[in-house]
Order: sequence, then structure tokens, then C-alpha cells
Amino acid sequence: MSCIFCAIVRGDAEASVVLDEGDFLAFMDIYPFLPGHVLIIPKRHAQYVHELEPAEQAGLFTAGARVAAAVRASPVPSGDVHFLVNDGPIANQTVPHVHLHVLPRTRGDLPKVFAALAKRPAVALLGQARRALLDEQAAAIAAAL
Ligand SMILES: [Zn+2]
Repeated sequence: MSCIFCAIVRGDAEASVVLDEGDFLAFMDIYPFLPGHVLIIPKRHAQYVHELEPAEQAGLFTAGARVAAAVRASPVPSGDVHFLVNDGPIANQTVPHVHLHVLPRTRGDLPKVFAALAKRPAVALLGQARRALLDEQAAAIAAAL
């Protein structure tokens, strides 16, 4: 099975890690909707939330809440955040490994969100975010954990 998130867990793929703790890993989204977009994953592969053990389901959200608090406390611009799980391909899950999005929002950023949504089908062509920038954001958020 080729899963990019499992490759990140194994250390075989690059990621800007925010949190590596217990059964969970948090890292910057390589195709961020907005600055500071973090993904939290269980280290054990599962495509759907219902395939996780109840403790993993709870732990995923607990880790997400910690990351969201750290985003808010960090210099990354944020007012509030979205917690989002696309649970399966019909629900726009693009990597078949459960991941919780923590997406920082700032007042008045709705046009940026719509622009990001419009570009979403072409992100692979438009390119990934710069690793140095993602590393900088990850360090800033990790410092606020
Ligand atoms: Zn996986």
C-alpha cells in the first residue's frame, strides 16, 4: 500500500512536523488553503474515522484541539479555526488516511477561502507550498504547544 501519510510517519517522506506524540502526528498541509493549515493524523493507517478505535477517535480530536490552541497562541494569523474531516473520497478526501484539518481563519478572509477552493482541483499543477515557509510555521506553532 502506498500512502503518503504512512510514508511521513515512517520518516520516508518529508513533512513540516508540528507535533509528534504518542499515536498522533501533526504537520503542515503541503497544499494549504490558508497560512497555518495543519493536518493531524493517527499514526496507524485507517481510511475512515469509523475504522479507528474509540480512543484513537478521541485522541485525534484532543490532539487537534491542542494544535488549534497553539495556532491561536502562535504568530500565525488566526482568529478562529475550522476543524474538518473529509471522511472518504466522495466527501473530498484526497489522501485515504484519516486526517483532521485545523484551518486558521482570520476576519475578512472569505475571498481567500473561495480562491483556494477554486484552485483546489489544480493544486498538483500549481505546486506545493515552500518547505522553508512550512517549516517556519510548524516551528512557530510547535513553540506554542
Ligand atoms: Zn496511511
